[in-house]
Order: sequence, then C-alpha cells, then structure tokens
Amino acid sequence: MQVLMTMNRMRRWPASAKMLILSSLIAIFGFSAVCISVMLDMRRGEEALARQTSENLATTIDADIGRTVEIYDLSLRAVVSGMMLPELSQLSGQIRQMILFDNAATATHFGAIQVFDAQGNLTIESTSLTPVAQNSADEGFFKVHRDDGERGLFISRPMLHQGAYVVVLSRRITDSEGNFAGVVAGSIRFSYFHDLFGRLRLNPDDTITVIRRDGVVIMRTPFDLDVIGRDISKTPGVMQILARASGSYSGTGAIDKVKRLYVWRDSGRPLIVIVAKPWEGIYQVWQQQALRIGIIMAGLIGFVTVVTLFSAREIDRRARAEGRLEELATTDALTGLRNRRKFDAAIDSEWRRAIRQSHPLAMLLIDADHFKLFNDTFGHQPGDHALIAIAHCIRRSVTRAGDCAARYGGEEFAVLLPGISAEEALVVAERIRLRVAQLPAEPGALTISIGVASMNPLVTMDYSELVKAADKALYAAKAAGRNQSVVATPSHLMMAA
Ligand code: GH3
Ligand code: MG
Ligand code: MG
Repeated sequence: MQVLMTMNRMRRWPASAKMLILSSLIAIFGFSAVCISVMLDMRRGEEALARQTSENLATTIDADIGRTVEIYDLSLRAVVSGMMLPELSQLSGQIRQMILFDNAATATHFGAIQVFDAQGNLTIESTSLTPVAQNSADEGFFKVHRDDGERGLFISRPMLHQGAYVVVLSRRITDSEGNFAGVVAGSIRFSYFHDLFGRLRLNPDDTITVIRRDGVVIMRTPFDLDVIGRDISKTPGVMQILARASGSYSGTGAIDKVKRLYVWRDSGRPLIVIVAKPWEGIYQVWQQQALRIGIIMAGLIGFVTVVTLFSAREIDRRARAEGRLEELATTDALTGLRNRRKFDAAIDSEWRRAIRQSHPLAMLLIDADHFKLFNDTFGHQPGDHALIAIAHCIRRSVTRAGDCAARYGGEEFAVLLPGISAEEALVVAERIRLRVAQLPAEPGALTISIGVASMNPLVTMDYSELVKAADKALYAAKAAGRNQSVVATPSHLMMAA
C-alpha cells in the first residue's frame, strides 16, 4: 500500500525530477555494466593464467620424465644390441659386463639392469657378476615381450621390487632367427618422482598425475598408495585425455571428487602428465576482489539512489511550492478568478495566437450595475458576497479550456473567449447575465451589464483595440438601461480602432 502510494506520487513528479532519476538509473546501470564486464574479464584472465601455468608445468614435467625414460631406454637398447653379439658367450664375465653395461646410465633413482633368458631366469645383472637365482617368467614385464614381438619399450605397473616401489622398463631380446631370446629389464624408483615433484611449489589441492597410455596411474602427487597402479581409463575425463594429444577440461576428480581444471601434455611418450588445479583456488583471489568491488558498488548505488530520490523529492517539493506561488500570484483573492495581471498576459498571448491561426478572439467586459448603491443599501460585506456570487456565475458559464475569466477591477470582470464570433460570445454573455439576474438577492438589486466584442486580429493591430471595443459596448449597455449585453457594433470597433 505504502509502495503504491509512493509510486503514485512519483508518477506526478515534474519532468526535471524524472530526468534526474532516469540519468541516475542510466549512470548506475552503465557503471554496473562496466564493473561486471571488468570483473568477468579479470575472471577470464585468472582462468587463462591458471591454464597457462598448468600447461607450462605439465610440459616441464613431461620433458623431465620423457628424458629420464629415454636415457634409461638407451641403456636397455645398448644391452639388447650387446646380447646380439655371437661372441658374447665366449667372453669372461667381467669383459661381458663392461661391453653390456659400460654405457649404462647410472643414477640414484635407477635400479640394476637385468637380463633374463627365454625361460625367465636371471642370467646377467649390471650390479653383480654372480646374480642370485631368480625367475621372472610370471612377471608382466616378461610375459608381455614373450607374447608380443613388436612391443618395444614396456613400462610396467608400479610394483614392489628389491624393497622399493619402482616402475620396470623392459625390452625384448630377439635372436638372429627372430625368436624370443629373453628380456632386458631395469627399474626407475619412485624416489625419482618424489624428488621431481618435491622440487615444485604446489598448492595443497593441486594434483599432478602421471598415467600410462592404457590409463594406469603410475604416480600422483599428493602421494596416495591406494591410487598408484589403479586403472582410471574408464573415467570420462581420462577418456578425453587419452583421446587427444593435449588440452584441458573442467571436471570432477576421479579420485577425490574435487572440481578442477585439468591440463595435460602428451608428447607421444609412453607416459602422460596431467596437472590439475581446483577451480576454487583459481578463483580465490578473484572472488575476494569481486566481493570487495561488489560491496563498494552496492554502497555507491545505494548512496546515489538515496541522493537521487532525495533530490527528486526536493525538486518536486519546490515545483509544487512554485506552482502554489504562481497560482497565488495570478488569482484574485476575493473571487478566486484570475486577476488582472493574469488576464493581461492571457489576452496578449491569445491575441498573438489568434493572429497566427487567423481565428477570432472574443472578449466580455462585465460590470455590476449601480454597485455603489448596492453597497450603500446592503453594506460593503454583502457587496463582497455579491461579487463572489457574480464570479461563480461567470465560472459556471465559461467552461472551455482556453477561456480565461478574470476580475478586471473593483466590480468589473472580463472574460476571454478564443476562437468564437461576437454572436457566439453574446450567447455566453447572456448566459452569465441571466444567471446573475436569477441570484437570490433582493429582486432586481443585483444585475450586470456586459460589453461583447470579437475581432479577427491582424498583425498591425493591438489587443487594446479589443478591450476598447468591449468597453464601448459596455458603455452602450449602461446607457441603454443596464442589465443587458451589447455586442460591439462596427462603429464601436471603428471607434476602438
Ligand atoms: P454603474 O451601474 O454605472 O456601473 O454604477 P456603479 O455604482 O456600479 O458604478 P461606480 O463606478 O460609480 O461604482 C462602483 C462601486 O463598486 C464603487 C465601489 O464601492 C464598489 N466596489 C468596487 N470594488 C468593490 C469591492 O471589492 N467590494 C465591494 N463591496 N464593493 C466594491
Ligand atoms: Mg464600474
Ligand atoms: Mg458598476
């Protein structure tokens, strides 16, 4: 209800107040739009930065792992080539060791290189001349080469080997007839990955996952033994990763169900590196900024709204006060009709309008008959009431929008009737006169005489000519015995001119 009343009041506000509100609204919407667009740009910037950082990280890790695998694979290849030498079996153990493993890469994270014969028996080992008897015929890294001659380098699932978690890298040895002659295998310890990831500065929820081409998790940081070796190839996100060489997607983690931005790099090597950052972390700084700017904007919008409404109300209040003052300045205090000043302004503008539009302009000049006598007989106050009653009769008879009824002076009234002829004006005059004559005063005590004039004004003429003509007609009405309306004759008009 209160709101409806306020809305109603607002609808009546002056145009300047409405303009003020409109411009404030435009300013508020404009600033808000700019702010929102900047905030969205910043958000996109944060995302692009996170994507770029992850891509760079993935590329670096991929290159490091790739290089490590490659170096170790070169050693395996050298052993495979050495094993093909027919003279090898005739050489002493020490010389054979030198030939096979002289170029073998050695590093803290690399395990011993071992050679198994076609039955899976350990025959040669890089770290020992007399290897302990061992059979690996049931191990995956052995079976894969025995069953598939084209496998090349094979990287095993993570496994416990010689007391440490490792991935085994293996290659097939093929004899001169192309038959399976055994397997060369070596291992990279998990300490390599721990060392590699330990050097990076990661946020708590950031993850780096290294997977094999078939979707088996080789390594993940934060380290989780349960996840290592798990096949995640069937999770939708990983299916995307395996399908494309590199890219990014937004998804929920297969392991910890956190929403992250996943970026991966696959440079064609056997292992794929996936770097994931949680969206919450990516937008954290942005969210704080957005909240701060949002609060400031809301405060500013509130402030502008309050100031605008306050100013608009003030404008409305002043406009009303001005309207009331204007009304007071143009109204006759006794009768409530327009005063002489207003009539003069109205006749001036209507005269010029009549010239422009080639329309007639009519005027009635009304004078109370023997009013001095009326005052003397009934008193001054009843005289005032009589003037109010006459004004009422005039107001009731003059109804068109452009008409102007005014108290012209003392007991004289004037009516401006734009657009009508003398005959039509006479009808209005008679209506007024008869209404006054029928007023319930002392019979015959209160009558009026009316001078009627209408002119088609020309640019060369002045509106005082119309007033003079009406005055002459009024004089004629008085002379003819009062209580009558007289239309200004051409002679009156001529006289007026
Ligand atoms: P005529 O018919 O020729 O117009 O005679 P008249 O007596 O009306 O003319 P006159 O000009 O001699 O007198 C006008 C009188 O109107 C004089 C004055 O006392 C009276 N009058 C003018 N203004 C007011 C007013 O505001 N109130 C009252 N009560 N009388 C007024
Ligand atoms: Mg008079
Ligand atoms: Mg009079």
